Amino acid sequence: MKNIILLGATGSIGTQTIEVLRGLSDEYRLVSLAFGKNLNKAIEIINEFKPFYVCSELKEHAEILKNLYPSLKVGYGNDGLLECATFEARNNYPTVVVNALVGSLGLKPTVEAIRKGYTIALANKETLVTAGRIVKEEVAKHGVELIPIDSEHSAIFQCLNGENNRNLKRIILTASGGSFRDKTRAELENVTVEEALKHPNWSMGSKITIDSATMMNKGFEVIEAHFLFNVGYEQITTILHRESIIHSMVEFQDTAILAQLGTPDMKVPISYALTYPERQLVSNAKQLDLTEIGILHFEKVDFARFPCLKYAYDAGIIGHSLPTVLNAANEAAVNLFLDGKIKFLDIEKIIYENLEKHELIKNPDLETIIQLDKELKLRIIKSAERSAL
Ligand code: NDP
Ligand code: MG
Repeated sequence: MKNIILLGATGSIGTQTIEVLRGLSDEYRLVSLAFGKNLNKAIEIINEFKPFYVCSELKEHAEILKNLYPSLKVGYGNDGLLECATFEARNNYPTVVVNALVGSLGLKPTVEAIRKGYTIALANKETLVTAGRIVKEEVAKHGVELIPIDSEHSAIFQCLNGENNRNLKRIILTASGGSFRDKTRAELENVTVEEALKHPNWSMGSKITIDSATMMNKGFEVIEAHFLFNVGYEQITTILHRESIIHSMVEFQDTAILAQLGTPDMKVPISYALTYPERQLVSNAKQLDLTEIGILHFEKVDFARFPCLKYAYDAGIIGHSLPTVLNAANEAAVNLFLDGKIKFLDIEKIIYENLEKHELIKNPDLETIIQLDKELKLRIIKSAERSAL
């Protein structure tokens, strides 16, 4: 038996986690969940899974839930999110916290859940981008497991299973190229939000779909890999692979390369993170038939075409407070783009400008990171509003 805590239950990863849990039956008990504004979907999940604790983003939704379910423990806002992430079921089963929140909002709950000794199944890569060093320190201090859900990192995690890390030479992250992979930079000038939201291979939340179109997602994944697998940035490479069949690869000292393959379906890495070190049937997962696919394509990634990837490498290598700036500037810029307030190419411009003018803070602690993240996002939003006047 395992207790499951699900942060971001109503989102893309959250919904797929729910589907996986349905297939896993009552061995895995959803004890606590958090959602944002989608009250109706949350109610459906509560009726089906009967958790003990629920957290909503808004106070008014928490009040509705309290009236509907008098015996349910209910919280809201940032405090509720921490209560949700550290909820203690009255049993001795191990607890896995699935963090499927979007953005740096996921950082504090991850850290608190680690301090509680819970296993972390991490989809929320922004946690590792903004504060990877601190998260790793907490993981080591509390001896908990950090299992990736991101498909590339799940692939690497699986390829490294049973291997000695000192034999690892290189990590090769595959990238689909996102919605605009076949467009030139000139053609990116006037692309719309609707076009950007059409990912060729994956159906995901809006923020990560935009991150895939700018390739910042791959940049984040480089930083994520650095922290998850303790490898230097010079050992992490990226390769364009438009079919998203090879989810990533690792190369060893003897030149042997191991890859993990499958049809693009997040339920598989989610299920692996929940059932690790076991594997269980994933209902409705499509079996891979390579004869049906026939040909797989690979291309070099061009940093000039995808500058966000280069910014991520630079920020990761310099480290300290720079990855926090990278993440916060990206989050603010993507929100502005989704709200129709800036153009697609302004996203990378805003990130570049903020990285350039940032005065590095050495080894920032958790509070400094949270404060920097908040201030920077506010400043970027305000400045965009001023220039729109
Ligand atoms: P979504 O936008 O689909 O989901 C985000 C979730 O967070 C929703 O449940 C949302 O609630 C909830 N949420 C937002 N604000 C709050 C808040 N203040 N308090 C509590 N809950 C909140 O994102 P995705 O599922 O696509 O992505 C989640 C994470 O996983 C991201 O870090 C992403 O990069 C990563 N990831 C996603 C993949 C995918 O296939 N989607 C693949 C690999 C990684 P509501 O909808 O109710 O407002
Ligand atoms: Mg990924």
